[in-house]
Amino acid sequence: MPDAAVAARSSETTNSGTTQQVDVAVVGAGFAGLYLLHRLRKAGFSAVVIEDAGDVGGTWYWNRYPGARCDIQTMDYSYTFDPELDREWTWSEKYATQPEILRYFGFVADRYDLRRDIRFNTRVKAANWDDTSERWQLTTDNGADVSCRYYIMATGCLSTPKPPEIDGVKDFKGEIYFTGRWPHDGVNLAGKRVAVIGTGSSGIQSIPLIAEQAAHLTVFQRTASFALPAHNGPAPDDRKTYFEADRAAYREQARWSLAGVPYPQEMAVSWQLSDAERRERFEKAWAAGDLVHILTQLWADQAADVDGNALIGKLIHEKIRAVVKDPDTAAALSPNDHPFGSKRPCLDTNYYATYNRPNVTLVNLRQEPIKAITASGIVTDKRSVDLDVIVFATGFDAMTGAIMAVHPITGRASKSLSSVWAQGPQTYLGLTVAGFPNLFMITGPGSPSVLSNMAVSIEQHVDWVVDRLAALRDAGFTTMEATETAQAGWAQHMADCSMLTLHRLANTWYTGANVPGKAQALMPYTSGVGPYRGICNEVVSRGMLGFRLTGPNVAEQCNDGEVVRLQPDVRLVLGMLAEMNLPQIESLGSQGARDFLAEFNKGRPAGRPVGEVGDGVLHGADGLLPYRLYRPATPGPHPIVVYFHGGGWVLGDEQSDDPFCRDMCRRTDMIFVSVGYRHAPEHRFPAAAEDGYAATRWIAEHAAELGGKAGPVLVAGWSAGGNIAAVTCQLARERGGPEIGGQLLVCPVTDSTFDRASYVDNGTNYFVTRGLMFWFWDLYCSPADRTDPRVSPLRGKLAGLPPAFVTTCEFDPLRDEGIAYAEAMAASGVAVEQLKARGHFHSSFTMVDVVITGVGGRIKMAEALRRFAGLPPEVKLPPQKLDAAAS
Ligand SMILES: Cc1cc2nc3c(=O)[nH]c(=O)nc-3n(C[C@H](O)[C@H](O)[C@H](O)COP(=O)(O)OP(=O)(O)OC[C@H]3O[C@@H](n4cnc5c(N)ncnc54)[C@H](O)[C@@H]3O)c2cc1C
Repeated sequence: MPDAAVAARSSETTNSGTTQQVDVAVVGAGFAGLYLLHRLRKAGFSAVVIEDAGDVGGTWYWNRYPGARCDIQTMDYSYTFDPELDREWTWSEKYATQPEILRYFGFVADRYDLRRDIRFNTRVKAANWDDTSERWQLTTDNGADVSCRYYIMATGCLSTPKPPEIDGVKDFKGEIYFTGRWPHDGVNLAGKRVAVIGTGSSGIQSIPLIAEQAAHLTVFQRTASFALPAHNGPAPDDRKTYFEADRAAYREQARWSLAGVPYPQEMAVSWQLSDAERRERFEKAWAAGDLVHILTQLWADQAADVDGNALIGKLIHEKIRAVVKDPDTAAALSPNDHPFGSKRPCLDTNYYATYNRPNVTLVNLRQEPIKAITASGIVTDKRSVDLDVIVFATGFDAMTGAIMAVHPITGRASKSLSSVWAQGPQTYLGLTVAGFPNLFMITGPGSPSVLSNMAVSIEQHVDWVVDRLAALRDAGFTTMEATETAQAGWAQHMADCSMLTLHRLANTWYTGANVPGKAQALMPYTSGVGPYRGICNEVVSRGMLGFRLTGPNVAEQCNDGEVVRLQPDVRLVLGMLAEMNLPQIESLGSQGARDFLAEFNKGRPAGRPVGEVGDGVLHGADGLLPYRLYRPATPGPHPIVVYFHGGGWVLGDEQSDDPFCRDMCRRTDMIFVSVGYRHAPEHRFPAAAEDGYAATRWIAEHAAELGGKAGPVLVAGWSAGGNIAAVTCQLARERGGPEIGGQLLVCPVTDSTFDRASYVDNGTNYFVTRGLMFWFWDLYCSPADRTDPRVSPLRGKLAGLPPAFVTTCEFDPLRDEGIAYAEAMAASGVAVEQLKARGHFHSSFTMVDVVITGVGGRIKMAEALRRFAGLPPEVKLPPQKLDAAAS
């Protein structure tokens, strides 16, 4: 429908000068606004959509620059709420062009007769909450203002183009265009001298086509982006076949996936793959021309680990060098200031090859910044470029730009959103803001939004919001507002999630770094659309956790709290374990439990390579014991850490904490000797304790043979191993040696009582249960012996022990006895440091490459061990040996 006709039709439906009364006002008629209107109508709400543009489409209405396309396959970037709609529309290409996507939105608007409730060519200028009427008052720039109970901002994450930051733009006498506001009747660039400023997605899509038209194109690049060939054409057969086999299942899988496109979780880590295997995977991804594929399917550590990520950057640099003939231009186009994926990578068609054209010049602004735009062109430190046209492909004030452009938005007590967000956006779930009742944002900051296939994220948000509004209405509530506690908890969860990614290492619009003066914070939720959906559902199933609900004739309801208190990866691990419906370990018998653990450990990622791993035997308290030695790659001799594995004195062996030993060996640059002490029930108390002591003595006496440094050894252990390490320190003090330089106790067992709060709070649901600990104790130690300090070191004499580092985890039954031991040692004059790991569970630190958020804790532990050994705390990690599988 032509714009004029749309405008005429929309003005008929409003009463200019009076206030339009509706249940719900939606701002924006893009992907989100259209679906909202459809759902709101079906749910029986009166609704109006206010849209600045002349027609539907949002992003796809405005972004008409040459080459504008989606970069998520269109098969995935579509509405899925109506299977009939899904069937009626067939995309012509793998990545549809802007005109085709815009036609799609027209088709959707017609199919559901949406335009009759949309007011086009109308901007919402301000929004104010009225506490008395409990309604939002929206001021518009065209026609009636709006009064609504619920105000939903579907204003778009990428809908406010960033203004140019360069002096002299107004002086330029030629033509100026913005990719995000491209003229509807096109631009004739033939024979003109054109500049494109910016090499993000829009620049990369438009540059090859502009180069074909222009007499000369000069590209001004500040930051090189990673781009991979789109290989556009028909939708690829493998994806199409997968989709067609069961469309509903495919869509459902997308909803629970990481990025909103159904791909499996990659399990193999980079160091498990050979050079050839990694290259094969990379070439496959390069040939697939699919961002989600290359961002998720290479190796499991690609997005979280700097080493694993750097491999991809190098491979892409090779590709760039292979295409771009001029080595200086190739180098300038090769991103080297951010990890792959930490900024939005791009899909291109002939982008790099375009720089081989004689009519294209790349100006590297890192070497020659722009000084000014003049009447005739652009002047840099090194040159002056005469121009007829400047195209700004400088991106958007992303995620918050369109929200903050409605100014002011005032909530309760006339507080404005701009003041609340002065230090960066604060939201609960990316959907709501404390102090702003009945305000919702679709794909707002704090939701997966731009890190996902937004079609999937938008549908999830719309469904969640409309379902909540309907439920509220049915229960007699009229307001819904996030609590401060819930919002602060979400900010903490967002920060925790961001530690699992490498976004923090890049200057990117994901953090607001592209807009001068904008408060910087990672805005999108980084743990994926599936986990996010699960959390939103959990909020509902836990009685609207974190929301205050009020209504005129019902009692106020406020179920305050934080929805996620676990670290994000711990939450995933516990969720997976719960889904596996594992048997209770204590029900398997000791041998059954050992078999089970061995089987379970087979599925974990292999530990990282270290210099050398070797097995041997040593003398325990009553015969030979096996040990496994981990030696750093650096030249020795190294200090030695005697390590005791976990497993409740019943399970495990000298190999069962292999990833932890490898990791700590690398981080400390020390030898770790993991001892295979005897187990219960075959060998009950005090066998393990006495073995621990005897093994430490033997290792100290044989330090030189093991390649270790002369002098004190260190001891370390996890769980029951922490118990043995603690006991060993007490026995060494009492029995006249060996000299122990320090003790690292990770979630140690220190006492035989089960009545501390952590046993009550964390006795179920966190893998190590109260029942399991009872069982371990029963197998190892008879009740009469349990106060013996050789099993309850908390009851021993603590003065004169070596310095200690004690790690405890918030969601561990053993938390409080670990803290009690640390405090008691400190009270006895022992030098003690504690790490109370928030959001972690008993196994967090030993599940090395599964619980990535444990890295910070392991660094602290390694630093403590190095201090105990008289070394500077930091160690520069040796470069990872990448061309071989784990040694
Ligand atoms: C070039 C480009 C390519 C993209 N490709 C992809 C892709 O392949 N896959 C993907 O997942 N995402 C992609 N995106 C992101 C894209 O923005 C979303 O996928 C999606 O279109 C957003 O829909 P929306 O309805 O939330 O917002 P938008 O489409 O941005 O619509 C918001 C609308 O709100 C209107 N508006 C804003 N403020 C006001 C106001 N105060 N008053 C009135 N109206 C207002 C705007 O005019 C706009 O029309 C792309 C973005 C761009 C710019």
